[in-house]
Amino acid sequence: EMSIVVHLRVAPLGDEYILILADDRTEFSRIEAVRNDFVANVSHELKTPVGAISLLTETIEGAADDADAVTRFSQRLHKESRRLAALVQDIIELSRVQGKNIVHQGTPVDLNEVLSEAADRSRLPAESKNIEIRLGGSLPRRVHGDGDQLMMAFRNLIDNAVRYSPENTRVGIGLSSRDGIAQVTITDQGIGIAQEDQERIFERFYRVDAARSRQTGGTGLGLSIVKHVISNHGGEVSLWSQQGRGSTFTVRLPELDESMDSLDLPGSPR
Ligand code: ADP
Repeated sequence: EMSIVVHLRVAPLGDEYILILADDRTEFSRIEAVRNDFVANVSHELKTPVGAISLLTETIEGAADDADAVTRFSQRLHKESRRLAALVQDIIELSRVQGKNIVHQGTPVDLNEVLSEAADRSRLPAESKNIEIRLGGSLPRRVHGDGDQLMMAFRNLIDNAVRYSPENTRVGIGLSSRDGIAQVTITDQGIGIAQEDQERIFERFYRVDAARSRQTGGTGLGLSIVKHVISNHGGEVSLWSQQGRGSTFTVRLPELDESMDSLDLPGSPR
């Protein structure tokens, strides 16, 4: 949508001239609209657990002499607080990564190390569904960037792969390199994503099935975080998926130029 602001200035001393300034505010309005949308969504998302927590607290107070009820409501209270904490955490992470553009003050990060640690951290939820996480490729692949951000991005992708897969399946993590581009694939045998949703799942708070996401502890922000982190590193994320068969998320990142290091190899000309 176009948005043009027109200012009319009439000269203060009589009506000798009228100055008309047209200001194209299209981009500004777009950013403003996106920001307002986000604030509205955040408020909406926070309201649900906050409302539930206050209601449950009152209910527990009213049921003080019914021990079973107290236990039941306390468990729900605990669940809602965890949900609130996860939401706040993801909102903070997202605002942290979407403010930045390219990571300048990065360090060399070995993707192989990041992936094996990310995989280890997802093993617990995976084991409870008897899902095996397989990590292929073990060569170091170095990129320049922020190790914590990259860890967060890959953990989100691996957690999703586990979250949206049935029991007794496999999640595969692959790492390869071609023409100076490191390629990470995360493949699951899960529920898959319909064609019409594939573009939208990277949007903030977009979920194919909100109830399912919520039940499994999702916040709807994971993939937006992933998208920002990868683009901060000059990379890109793509997706292949078929409903009922599974999904593969592919991340491509420019590898660190090692030719600088090789100048210091013994025997190399100075
Ligand atoms: P959530 O916290 O809901 O998982 P994400 O931003 O991580 O939020 O993902 C957005 C939505 O994309 C999810 O709610 C789910 O519908 C879909 N999705 C993400 N990863 C997968 C996957 N591996 N398999 C199937 N659906 C997925």
